[in-house]
Amino acid sequence: ATEPQFVEKKHCNIGTIGHVDHGKTTLTAAITKILAKDGLAQYVSYDEIDRAPEEKARGITINAAHIGYSTKLRHYAHTDCPGHADFIRNMISGASQMDAAVLVVAANDGPMPQTREHLLLAKQVGIQYIIVFINKADLVDGELLELVEIEMRELLSDFGYDGNTVPMICGSAMKALNGDESEFGAPSIRKLLSTMDEYVPPIVRDLSSPFLMPIDNAFTVPGRGTVVVGTIKRGIMKKNAEADLLGFGQNIKTTISDVQIFKNSVPEALAGDNVGVLLRGMKIKSVQTGMLLTAAKSCFLTNHYKAKIYFLTRNEGGRRKPIFSKYSQQMFSGTWNIAVRIDLEPTQQMMMPGDHGEVYLTLLEDMVMTVGQPFTVRENNVTVATGIITETRS
Ligand code: GDP
Ligand code: MG
Repeated sequence: ATEPQFVEKKHCNIGTIGHVDHGKTTLTAAITKILAKDGLAQYVSYDEIDRAPEEKARGITINAAHIGYSTKLRHYAHTDCPGHADFIRNMISGASQMDAAVLVVAANDGPMPQTREHLLLAKQVGIQYIIVFINKADLVDGELLELVEIEMRELLSDFGYDGNTVPMICGSAMKALNGDESEFGAPSIRKLLSTMDEYVPPIVRDLSSPFLMPIDNAFTVPGRGTVVVGTIKRGIMKKNAEADLLGFGQNIKTTISDVQIFKNSVPEALAGDNVGVLLRGMKIKSVQTGMLLTAAKSCFLTNHYKAKIYFLTRNEGGRRKPIFSKYSQQMFSGTWNIAVRIDLEPTQQMMMPGDHGEVYLTLLEDMVMTVGQPFTVRENNVTVATGIITETRS
């Protein structure tokens, strides 16, 4: 007998972003209400979403509602942040890694400062897919809706998205929430949901970029040599390929002598695989956790970076005092840490706990960090700042 085929629903992390009061929470509630009718979600009311519980992520407090629901195709984990500050903290700390975002913009306001700021951050943390929901369509006429759409397409292009192809849906989250079945009511939400299903492809691993693997561990196999262990982040690692071991100021050329998955030698391993890699001629004392094993000459080693940073408030366990240029502390990312100097923009005299902005990082030694990589800064083992890399500089 043939076994019944079990098709697992794919998972997608999504969130609502956009200017305060443009209707993010109302839209989130409307989505659950409409899916609840088909038994695909539990209805979560506006008040329940807006009273999102506090959660601790990397030592900072974030209010964010995490709501699960399904369409016929997929399962979604949806993040709605009650406030602008919560959104910033959530994004910078990487507390929820969104695959896609629904950018909510109120038709009667058009794009506002936080619309821009959220879009900028979305781009910086690597969110590839944006869907625009032009909300409060009940308040304006058709011409104004068209104008907002044009403005949004320009804005998206300004921030490096393809403004021509980003889907835009006009609707009214409030009407939908009130059970209205006219064009801008419930049907606009159903259209949003089917757009989410169709426009955001299943999340795939990057197999085309040169391989890259952060080193989690290393040990010596007597008679064979040094084996490094980690999970391949991107690309395909082939036996006999040339590679670089990079980090902490070192750039060591080597060759992949053997690749093992679950202790079996394989000709190649793919992004997502956890592997042990035998490195030709490598001394165990040259390897440090936090170094990267990369395809030869594919990565850029530097100690200069630009980053978006958020300094925790005193209540969040952060500093009491302001931060000035030449602020030196220990920086943590992934499995490693290193001394770092933080300099502010030349025009900026200081930053206060609770502030966020762009800063320049100078690491004690050269490392490979990639755009979107999160890090924290600690003083005496207490997290005082969280950030993401936005630029590598030579
Ligand atoms: P958020 O700050 O982006 O989460 O916005 P909210 O969801 O809290 O909505 C802000 C205000 O706009 C509330 O008073 C909502 O009732 C109202 N609102 C939300 N959606 C609509 C809509 O489609 N039409 C109208 N007229 N008002 C709306
Ligand atoms: Mg809200």
